[in-house]
Amino acid sequence: MTRTVYVNGEYLPEHEAKVSIFDRGFLMADGVYEVTSVLGGKLIDFEGHAKRLARSLSELEIRKPMEDEALLEIHRELVARNDIDEGMIYLQITRGAPNDRDFVFPPEETAPTVVLFTQSKPGLADSPAAKEGIKVISIPDIRWGRRDIKTVQLLYPSMGKMMARAAGADDAWMVEEGAVTEGTSNNAYIVKGNTIITRQLSHEILHGITRAAVLRFAREAQMQVEERAFTIEEAQQADEAFITSASTFVMPVVEIDGAQVGQGAPGPVANRLREIYIEESRKAAI
Ligand code: PLP
Repeated sequence: MTRTVYVNGEYLPEHEAKVSIFDRGFLMADGVYEVTSVLGGKLIDFEGHAKRLARSLSELEIRKPMEDEALLEIHRELVARNDIDEGMIYLQITRGAPNDRDFVFPPEETAPTVVLFTQSKPGLADSPAAKEGIKVISIPDIRWGRRDIKTVQLLYPSMGKMMARAAGADDAWMVEEGAVTEGTSNNAYIVKGNTIITRQLSHEILHGITRAAVLRFAREAQMQVEERAFTIEEAQQADEAFITSASTFVMPVVEIDGAQVGQGAPGPVANRLREIYIEESRKAAI
């Protein structure tokens, strides 16, 4: 089946969808994105993603091209047209395509570019990786200072994944001034006893939509949550570690820089949080 994608008001077969070579997203990574998961053909936490998108746009002074209701409609239409049961919707909005390349922002009337496409991932919820846990390495965090804005500047995170792969690991945790900021495309956590520890929100990390939900569920389940920075050494000595993101939900981490975490297998807290997150998200999906 040819995938149907959305570009600037049109639903098109993917090979017919085109964006200008002058698009600011292409030339300058001047754009933002969101990834929303689909379970059972429904959107997980659309409201959270729409809110963060609005904030990212506003921080970069990119015009919000449409209301959330219209965005929701496009998401649903793509799910239906592509028959997505489990997977993701990728959305990207850039500052648009002026007639030439220029560092100066284009005139106000330049329309933002809006692109959405689906990624079908059958078995997303029943992931084999979640049963085994993943291995991470640490790498320096050399990204820019506004990681709270979900921009498409993903070169370093992409390189981080390649460094992880070269080291026989699955992902990388980034470290700045001795403390873990986050994973290349996820938030990072450790567990000590009944306490879940994850870095506090700031400009240094992305404010994960999954993070917000998981911390809420953890508190509701009477777990303690400490929002503070931690080191790689502390993580290696923790009882458990895990990551969260819209596409991995809660994913146990069983090895950090070659050192086994806890028993070297997914721990009870990560497993329980994954279960709760998927169950509650399915219930609230729209
Ligand atoms: N941190 C970074 C750097 C990310 O790229 C992502 C997701 O892409 C996350 C955290 C997790 O955010 P969310 O839970 O909203 O997917």
